[in-house]
Amino acid sequence: MDFSINTFEKLLSICESENKKIYEIMQEKEAFDFDIDVENVRNRVAKNIEAMKSAIKNGMTSKEKSYSGLCGDDCAKLQERYKKESPLFGKIYEKITTYALATMEENLRMNKIVACPTAGSCGIVPAVITALSEEKGLNKEEEINALITAGTVGYVISAKVAMAGAVAGCQAECGVASAMSAAAAAQILGGNERQKINAAILALKNILGLTCDPVGGLVEIPCVKRNVFLAIHAITGAELSLAGIESKIPPDEIVDAMVQTGQLMSPLLKETSQGGLAITKNGILISSKL
Ligand code: SF4
Repeated sequence: MDFSINTFEKLLSICESENKKIYEIMQEKEAFDFDIDVENVRNRVAKNIEAMKSAIKNGMTSKEKSYSGLCGDDCAKLQERYKKESPLFGKIYEKITTYALATMEENLRMNKIVACPTAGSCGIVPAVITALSEEKGLNKEEEINALITAGTVGYVISAKVAMAGAVAGCQAECGVASAMSAAAAAQILGGNERQKINAAILALKNILGLTCDPVGGLVEIPCVKRNVFLAIHAITGAELSLAGIESKIPPDEIVDAMVQTGQLMSPLLKETSQGGLAITKNGILISSKL
């Protein structure tokens, strides 16, 4: 099999010619690249899923603030609200928002998380996969299939651009995480391979231009809450795609647009904390107290 998968078009053509799903192709590629068997690949992915779930569990029971003291108790506040009021969009919405916050707060406490694709965007993929898994009753193998699908989306995008706010803004961190999650959601919800990629690309397309402007140079403001928003954004991508709504711009062209947008973005908005939120009056005030 030709394993040089550097575009979505290529990925889909391999899926079609081999009559296999995205996760099947990628797990075979990983096995080939690392000279291990597919079972070994899946065991490694299973360990990541366990680590994601641990981060969610730990994050939901902690109110410990970050070293800066800026963040750390929002997940507790959200859970308190959900005890009193049912979330407008139901249990899956409740779980996704809570889990994304829990994971990101574990990250800023410097506890163990899974960077997916980065630490600053680590709340999105775990929130979507875990919430959907619990609500849809997935088994371990189905969770692994979902995470490999998500990882494949990140892998293909990373062939063209580094996953870093310093390179292409937050579209390359939380934006890519949202795209990865949309594909995972489509995998869980029974989409075909084209729908999984289309779900991802709809999510990516609708966050193009997202800047990276962390207050005080810390991965806290706006990063923590941004994970919550973009986890929900992923579900919209999956729902639209599963309804048969397709992006009129092909997937690889959207990745190209993302790369170009990142190149055009001012360095002031690429993790330097010299623009956007970071230099608002209160952004500077917060920064001066750190
Ligand atoms: S705003 Fe910047 S630092 Fe924060 S998650 Fe996005 S890319 Fe990472």
